[in-house]
Amino acid sequence: MNQSAPLNDDLRSLYQEIILDHGKSPRNFRVVEHASCKAQGNNPMCGDRVTVTARVSPAGVLEDVAFEGKGCAISIASASMMSEALAGQPAAVAQQLFAAVHDLCTGKLDADQAKAAVPPVLGDSIDKLASLSGVRQFPVRVKCATLPWHALISCLDGKTQTTTEK
Ligand code: ZN
Repeated sequence: MNQSAPLNDDLRSLYQEIILDHGKSPRNFRVVEHASCKAQGNNPMCGDRVTVTARVSPAGVLEDVAFEGKGCAISIASASMMSEALAGQPAAVAQQLFAAVHDLCTGKLDADQAKAAVPPVLGDSIDKLASLSGVRQFPVRVKCATLPWHALISCLDGKTQTTTEK
């Protein structure tokens, strides 16, 4: 297994700052107006519950992504960064970015490798989302970080419920 290197202390504290910032002041914490889909995600292991709403244009662009809910700082920060990263992007990019985020969270990819796996326009988003990679040592926390993404993918697939317990 090709694991990425452990985080150094500087990166670790930068990552903690980003998560605290988004966890305390989440972006797009609301309901999307005229949403084309809505899905709820539930992570019973931690008690995180998020509801993601999104509006997809006829051309397949994610015009708006937002979320509401209650959860730990990791789940809220992940949802907040997700909503910022994907607004204005083609809906098809959501799955691609989720795959990269998942691999960051499990330690399969580091930030540079994750950047190479997504369209270049998402490079800045990966810099922020890489802050979630601190959860790699805590498998339970990986579910917190990926919960909003599961909810968004369900939303785009037209499903209304998702859970990390599958
Ligand atoms: Zn959590």
